[in-house]
Parts: sequence; C-alpha cells; structure tokens
Amino acid sequence: MPVRATKRGADRTPLSGDYDVLICGASFAGLAVARELAGTLRPDGTPARVLMVDRYEIGERQTSACGIPTRWLEALDLMGAHRQTFPELVVNTPHGTSRWPLPWTFSTFDYRELCALLAEQGDCEFETAKVNGRSGDTVHTDRGDLTAPLIVDCLGWRRVLAADGGYQPPDAPLSRGLEVHPHGSGEDLAIWIDRSIVPAGYGWSFPARDELRIGVGSFDPRFHVKDSTVELAEDLGSEAVRYQGNWIPHKLRDSVEDGVFFAGDSAGHCLPLTAEGIRTALYFGIACGRELRDVVEGRRTREQALGSYFAFNAAHEWKYEWMLRTQRLVPRVHPPLLHRVVRGFQRPAVVGWAFRHYWNIASPDIVGPAPASATRAPVATAA
Ligand SMILES: Cc1cc2nc3c(=O)[nH]c(=O)nc-3n(C[C@H](O)[C@H](O)[C@H](O)COP(=O)(O)OP(=O)(O)OC[C@H]3O[C@@H](n4cnc5c(N)ncnc54)[C@H](O)[C@@H]3O)c2cc1C
Repeated sequence: MPVRATKRGADRTPLSGDYDVLICGASFAGLAVARELAGTLRPDGTPARVLMVDRYEIGERQTSACGIPTRWLEALDLMGAHRQTFPELVVNTPHGTSRWPLPWTFSTFDYRELCALLAEQGDCEFETAKVNGRSGDTVHTDRGDLTAPLIVDCLGWRRVLAADGGYQPPDAPLSRGLEVHPHGSGEDLAIWIDRSIVPAGYGWSFPARDELRIGVGSFDPRFHVKDSTVELAEDLGSEAVRYQGNWIPHKLRDSVEDGVFFAGDSAGHCLPLTAEGIRTALYFGIACGRELRDVVEGRRTREQALGSYFAFNAAHEWKYEWMLRTQRLVPRVHPPLLHRVVRGFQRPAVVGWAFRHYWNIASPDIVGPAPASATRAPVATAA
C-alpha cells in the first residue's frame, strides 16, 4: 500500500472558519481556480481569504495518464513537469496500424511536479480534509465545518457537493479507466480500438520518459477493465504494477447548482469518446476562477457570477453532445469499416480538420498571464 502524506493522528487538528472562497479539491480544476484567485483583494484592499482542501496533499495521488496538448503546458508555464512529446498518434485496430500526423503535439507530464508548479501560481491556504457534504454555505469535513459564500466543487466525478449527494456508478453516465505504470520507455503515443480488449472503449500506452502508462477505458461502467489492462500490459512486454484507476464522467452536467460552482469532472467536463479531462478541467477552472475573482473584488454579485458561469458551460454543450454521439457510434461500427475510417485519418487534411475542431473545445487561448504575484506563502505540496 502506498503511504499517504495525509495528516493523521495529532496533526489532524479541528478545522473551522469563514472564508471568501472555499475550493474543494486540489487537482487540475481546483488548482486552476486557485491560480486565477492569486492576489485577489477585497474592495477594502485586504487580501481575500481563500482556502483549498483535499483529502490528500497536493500532487500526492495521480489521477490520470497525464497526457495533454503540449501547448497547454507552455501556456501555463508548466513545462518543468514535461516528460515526452508526440507529433503523432498511433492507432491500432485488429486490422492494422495507422499513424495520425497530429496538427499539434501531445505531451506526457509528471503529476506531482505539475501540481507543485501550478500550486506555486496560487497563494491560497491549503488544508488536508475529507469533504463529507454540504448544508447551504457550510461544507462539512472530517475536521470540522467551513463556511463561505463562494464554494467550488472540484472534487471529481462524484460531485460530492451536489444537493442530492452526487453520482453513483454503475447507473450514472460514467466510464471507467484503469492503468498500470511499469518502468520502461517507448516512442509512440498509442491507442487500441479493439473489441477483444474492451467492447466499447479503448486501450492506451502513454510513454513518459522512464515509465509507461498502459491502461484500458470502458464507456460501459459495468465492464471490468482489470483483466484487459493486465493482458494489454503483458502483450506489450510490461509488468502490471502500480495501478491507478477511477470513474470518468462522459456527460456534461450543470456547472452551477444550489449556489455552488462546479469545475472539472464534478461538472462532467471530461470529454466523451477520448476521456481527455485535464485540459478541460484547467479550462473551466480558469473560467470559474475569474468569475469568483470578480465577485470577491466587488465587480459583480454572486448571482451574476453563477449565471455567467452557467451560460459559459452551456455554450459548450453541443460540442459535448457531438463527442458523446460519436462515443456511442464507434462501438457499433463494423470493425473492417472502422479500420478504413481510422486509416483515412492518416491524411493530414482529414486529421488536421478533425483535431482542430477538437482543439477548439478547450483552447489554451483562455490562459492569461499568471495573476498578480502571491501575497502569502505558496501552499505546501506533497514531499
Ligand atoms: C486511468 C485514467 C487515465 C486518464 N488519463 C487521462 C489523460 O491522459 N489525459 C487527460 O486529459 N485525462 C485523463 N483522464 C481523465 C482525467 O484524469 C480527469 O478528467 C481529471 O483528473 C479531472 O480533473 P479534476 O481536477 O476535475 O478531478 P480529479 O483529478 O479527479 O481531482 C479530484 C480531487 O478531489 C479530491 N477529492 C475527491 N473526493 C474528495 C473528498 N471527499 N474530500 C476531499 N478531497 C476529495 C481528490 O483527492 C483529487 O485531488 C484519465 C482518467 C483515468 C481514470
């Protein structure tokens, strides 16, 4: 069992207080919200009180294969966490292998390092605490109750702070993903669309310099991906060690509910079909953080910010719908026909057209310069 850095025993002191903003969850979405709030001042000129909580230390528990368009790492000044860059995507089907020349590169990164770098761009307070639920403006944690007029749920797929208690597999619109992280190296960012591996979904191998991230994702939450993951790793000559897996939302949800803001997987921001949820968590986290900043600095009311963030999210709905339709279609296409389509994407004009649309769902153009320099010491990250 990995040792968690979460505060325990005597270190787990009671926690309470009133804050201007309470960010629940300190992964991609939560850290992006915090970044946008750095240096926020109240109308009277005093620093805003922003608290971020997570059950683990920042960066302690990897939540994905950590693949992202390289441009996102550059835009957020996170190249320090970069591991490997790929100009093409290698797509394997039972009928052959195709190489898609991407119009932009994809990179892998180190989760812990990226979280540390992103956390440095924020200046909020941080505490480890498990969030159990909410009543109105009060969030209940295992260390006590915290209150804030502005609360953000960045806690991932379960949507813990929803009025009805959140999502529960297997009936909710969730995919499931599991991967192993053996030592090793590789040149190709590769995926497998093969029903003998997973009836609806895909397998992947993401090299990250000195480790491989080999996994399987199923759009059907009832399909257990463990055996397929182990088999894929063995087929690739790797050991099935160091597991990490999770549920993955594949349907966009409302980004506000009952006065609470939701960003990242809690809002269903992970993209259907590809299960790419890092850049979207960053993208919506930035948009949400800007709304919160406007409220704290007195430029708009909480209700206006809730309305504006709701509208921003809703404007993306049709794109998510298209991705979801494609996710439902692909497993139904006759495999030889699917292979012909996959092969067609080797043509730069075809892959360029498709991936530029895909890029525009959550473009790094939203990233602005790092907000005003930190007014407090940066938050502590996992050692
Ligand atoms: C196996 C796998 C591989 C993936 N690979 C990729 C990939 O390569 N690229 C990509 O773009 N996407 C990938 N994804 C999807 C991606 O991981 C998610 O979409 C992304 O992590 C969402 O970010 P988030 O900040 O919203 O939530 P999360 O990253 O899930 O973070 C939620 C945070 O909340 C904390 N938390 C949860 N519950 C509580 C609680 N009750 N109390 C306190 N804290 C809590 C957690 O500790 C965590 O820090 C993958 C998913 C899986 C499962």
